[in-house]
Amino acid sequence: MPFRLFDAPEREPSQSVGFAGNLIDRQSENRSDDSVEKALEDPGARVMLMREGRLLLKRIEDRFDAHFLLNECDPLETRLDDAILLGFDESGPILAAPCLLDTERLPETIKAIDHRSIYIQGLIDPAALGALAQGAALLSWHASHGYCGRCGHRTEMRAGGYRRRCSACNTEHFPRTDPVAIMLSVTADRCLLGRGKHFAPGMYSALAGFIEPGETIEAAVRRETFEEAGIRLGRVVYHASQPWPFPYSLMIGCFGEALSEDISADMNELEDCRWFSRDEVLAAMAGNHPGGVFVPPSGAIAHHLIRHWAESE
Ligand SMILES: [Zn+2]
Repeated sequence: MPFRLFDAPEREPSQSVGFAGNLIDRQSENRSDDSVEKALEDPGARVMLMREGRLLLKRIEDRFDAHFLLNECDPLETRLDDAILLGFDESGPILAAPCLLDTERLPETIKAIDHRSIYIQGLIDPAALGALAQGAALLSWHASHGYCGRCGHRTEMRAGGYRRRCSACNTEHFPRTDPVAIMLSVTADRCLLGRGKHFAPGMYSALAGFIEPGETIEAAVRRETFEEAGIRLGRVVYHASQPWPFPYSLMIGCFGEALSEDISADMNELEDCRWFSRDEVLAAMAGNHPGGVFVPPSGAIAHHLIRHWAESE
């Protein structure tokens, strides 16, 4: 009998969410200041091209490919000077780079599609979607950290894109990941769902909010739930996480045990917030809720939290 850690499942819940399928071997311990140059000398190098929140995709028969060879990058006005090294797969290095070519001037066979649509429509395989999360988060961070937060001078990319260094004061700046708690508050037979003002009509989801400095995940889950819905939570347990490249968050999915059921919703944050029975949630997931309520798509961590609770005993 092999050693087993706790009762953890063989397949982690995080492996089922969108943006979580990254298979790239990052080789973070080998990053150096010439990582990108070396990678670009490799004939197997492939680049993921991004422009203003969109990923370029090559149409190959009935599927899309997000990887461009170096000779394909040139005509698309790719900024290889700003490329970052994501890591390696069995064919060689994979990079991400900004591309400047106006999307209206792209050839027929190449489409520039926004990251959210790629994710919702499942246009690329889970591994490429995971690589997109990595590349999009890093490129966004570089695009907004060109100047030193300490002295205001220009910063320069280092370590294959995993660091920036100030040219004047030598301060090193590291890429950000912003943690967001997303939580499903539950009782034995009901769960709490809310509607943001920007949601599509009929959609309800788990509540969410940024984790603040000096706060544990559990404390953030309790605070956000109380602030947004007026519900006090007892025990909080972690379920799964999801990289969320809008621009560089990590969604941390939890369940919270509701101690009260009287909702006092913050109408600045939410348009509606209410309890849903298990049957109602199952109907919403199956697309046959009588009131037209539905939940986020299957790649979303909110969907997994809701499904996991609805299908539990
Ligand atoms: Zn500086």
